[in-house]
Amino acid sequence: MSDIIQLLPDHVANQIAAGEVVQRPASVIKELLENSIDAHATRIQVVIKDAGKTLIQVVDDGVGMSVTDARMSFERHATSKIKLADDLFSLKTKGFRGEALASIAAIAHVELKTRRAEEEIGTCIKMEGSQVVSQEACVTPKGTCLSVKNLFYNIPARRNFLKSDNVETRHIIDEFQRVALAHPDISFSLTHNNNELFQLPPSNQRQRITNIFGGKTNEKLVPVEEDTGIVKVSGFVGKPEFAKKSRGEQFFFVNNRFIKSPYLNHAVVAAFEGLLKDKSYPSYFLYLDVDPKSIDINIHPTKTEIKFDDEHALYAILKSAIKHSLGQFNVAPMLDFERDSDLDTPYDYKNKNASAPQIEVDRDFNPFKNEGGLASFSGGGGNVSYRRERSAASWEGIYTGLETETMPESSANLKEIEFESEEVTGNLFGAKEEEHGRSTFQLNKKYIISTLKSGLLAIDQHRAHTRILYEELLKNITVSAAVSQQLLFPLKLQFNKHENEMLKEIKDSLEQTGFVFSEFGRDEVEITGIPTLIAESEVEMLLEKLLADFEKEVPSDGFSQTDLMAKSLASSMAVRSGTLLNSAEQQHIVNRLFACKEPGLTPFNKTIFTTIGVDELDKKFA
Ligand code: ADP
Ligand code: MG
Repeated sequence: MSDIIQLLPDHVANQIAAGEVVQRPASVIKELLENSIDAHATRIQVVIKDAGKTLIQVVDDGVGMSVTDARMSFERHATSKIKLADDLFSLKTKGFRGEALASIAAIAHVELKTRRAEEEIGTCIKMEGSQVVSQEACVTPKGTCLSVKNLFYNIPARRNFLKSDNVETRHIIDEFQRVALAHPDISFSLTHNNNELFQLPPSNQRQRITNIFGGKTNEKLVPVEEDTGIVKVSGFVGKPEFAKKSRGEQFFFVNNRFIKSPYLNHAVVAAFEGLLKDKSYPSYFLYLDVDPKSIDINIHPTKTEIKFDDEHALYAILKSAIKHSLGQFNVAPMLDFERDSDLDTPYDYKNKNASAPQIEVDRDFNPFKNEGGLASFSGGGGNVSYRRERSAASWEGIYTGLETETMPESSANLKEIEFESEEVTGNLFGAKEEEHGRSTFQLNKKYIISTLKSGLLAIDQHRAHTRILYEELLKNITVSAAVSQQLLFPLKLQFNKHENEMLKEIKDSLEQTGFVFSEFGRDEVEITGIPTLIAESEVEMLLEKLLADFEKEVPSDGFSQTDLMAKSLASSMAVRSGTLLNSAEQQHIVNRLFACKEPGLTPFNKTIFTTIGVDELDKKFA
């Protein structure tokens, strides 16, 4: 039997490597931008057609390549950036694998035009599926122009796997922003189908951030600055009140390279402790400079993760630097983190003398004499509460008290007792039921409890309301023309490019829910009408949440887009648990819920209500 192991032909090896390097048009943009930066470009222009599927072109004014280098650049493992293994530990460039151009040329039609400053004539090379189609001298400006056409033309499976143009454009904008943020001193532009999306002049960090994320960003930024032996930190965090519903604007750059680090992210969030509302994310643009020897970027092929030698120290430094900044800019309540504010003496008390506490005793008090005082116990888990202030005559009072919303808010234990009692009274004083049909009450500001002929019904108020709104929204979007309320003053909202792209994508469906957009500018959206179901003050929050949801789960077709939108809007508009509802509101929810097509489950497939049958109760009393 003959030997069976063979070396793969180059073009096959390149295609396989390409699978790792190039997942989508955005990966090509990233690689080409990084090459231009490594070539010391001061100006980089990106042009794309059809979300990069038809054309990606990156033009720079960098050092360019000689005739031989131009040809070599498409070979695998061909790089000018490292020579020895040791160089890996002192990387100053973005690239070092020498894989990008070889990979891209394996899966697209590539044209390279390049010229070095010292040469008069440049080189033009055309590649197709790793093969050189032509190489000739050409007239071209100093620098390099790389055009990548028909990406994945020879891998149909890959090409079909690409998402809609809108989604792919979003990925491209993401990559573009990361690189542009990391290099504010370089001028960048991005043009999509003859539409200029970005035009970024050379600037400082703050200007670059503002140019990308819109004019109002400037006032939201708090500078962070710290220089230690281990790391130099600079950049900005967003003021807590502008924290977002999505993680959209969170950027770490290490030695000008965008990275993701859940660990460092945790440090930032920890610095914001106590300043953020639930489920909101602080924005940050943080630039860390460390000794290249102390990091290893080699651990991930797409290089957004790196390994630090001294992670713990970085964590501590970052956290304290941000805390310090937030404090300095009067964002955090306390400036001095060492001092315990409880020990501070109020000014008035400084000159007073301490006096001995006095004890007053009610000598007539007899705990065994029952003056109509009712003792109620709630025991369990060593947590026993004892209460004697309510009289027996006030049993009913407890019940009506609940309905008129005068329930004391203070002690959780107290509430439990009252609800327990109330279930009893509900049955004892069943007359109420006849007065207004089915009676309901609220438990823990979370559940609506109602009686059925055959038992008890417990409804999760938030989930029920979500279901109701969801069906209503779906109906609005798909069947009837939604009613919208005209706003007295148009609402102007700012979104970043990325969010703007998404908004554009769902604009039509939004309009069907009742939104009226009068202007759809570059980074400002003007709204003149909103759905009747929504309060004006909620619009920004709702849209932000909606965009965050779209970000997480990219819907592929019109139907799932509508569905996702209805789900997102419904769950952000629905009453939260913890909201007190009066009995009319409770009734309303119960009635509308059971008019729904699917009252049992939320659009997220969660149980909405449960029942406890009389027979179950009977068993408990057996
Ligand atoms: P790497 O960037 O890892 O070295 P690439 O395949 O991306 O590998 O590029 C191969 C080589 O081609 C680079 O090392 C560089 O010498 C050259 N090159 C690529 N793009 C440019 C450019 N825009 N300007 C000048 N030289 C470039
Ligand atoms: Mg490269």
